[in-house]
Amino acid sequence: MFKIQDYIRDIKDFPKPGIVYKDITPLLQDPEAARKTTDALMEKIGGLKVDKVVGIESRGFFFATLLAERLNAGFIPIRKPGKLPYDTLQESYSLEYGEDVLEIHSDAIKPGEKVLIHDDVLATGGTAAAACKLVEKMGGEIVQCNFLMELGFLNGKDKLDSYQVVSLLSI
Ligand code: IMP
Repeated sequence: MFKIQDYIRDIKDFPKPGIVYKDITPLLQDPEAARKTTDALMEKIGGLKVDKVVGIESRGFFFATLLAERLNAGFIPIRKPGKLPYDTLQESYSLEYGEDVLEIHSDAIKPGEKVLIHDDVLATGGTAAAACKLVEKMGGEIVQCNFLMELGFLNGKDKLDSYQVVSLLSI
């Protein structure tokens, strides 16, 4: 039987000492595993109407594009500063030490559009919460925050408590 956890490997001390990094590249290498993962994400989405799927740089892009295709929705990238070529809106958010910024193209979401946010990992929730704020600034409605996995011990869901949050795996 397909188990997503068999295709995610732990890399100790990456990108810095003390961190155990969840690497999803084995999942992407295997077309059947990637298809079954997309099927499982689609089940979590159920019958929700979705106009745009927002993928968060960079590992969120992979399954966000696959989901957008299945949902017949547009794909929208949210990226780190300076990576998007057109006019952008920005949102800053706190990290453990310091802050970071996310950007979205200013024409990416139209008011009233229903938006699904996707990323590979929900950790502290800061990144996804900033992505939701960007979408809402543009008048989009978040219908679901969707992840491959959630690091439950970091309580990222607390930062997303006004949204529906789903993940395939909770660690
Ligand atoms: P958060 O803002 O703390 O929730 O961190 C989530 C962001 O960090 C996501 O964009 C993830 O891609 C990335 N991230 C955090 N931990 C991991 C990990 O173990 N593996 C891969 N990406 C991670």
